[in-house]
Amino acid sequence: MAYYNNRREPVEEEETRIWTCTNDDCQGWMRAAYSFKKKPSCPLCQSDMHAETKLLPKLM
Ligand SMILES: [Zn+2]
Repeated sequence: MAYYNNRREPVEEEETRIWTCTNDDCQGWMRAAYSFKKKPSCPLCQSDMHAETKLLPKLM
């Protein structure tokens, strides 16, 4: 039986390491944790990506 809590859980955010696309016309980015490559290329436009941090909801 599923249990539903009426209390809204606050979304916890944390500084997360991400890769962002270096192409200004592209919105591509990904969590670094999801990339196993040292230097991934953008999944949208194949451009180089650079490391950054972004405030994102914490992963459970
Ligand atoms: Zn891109």
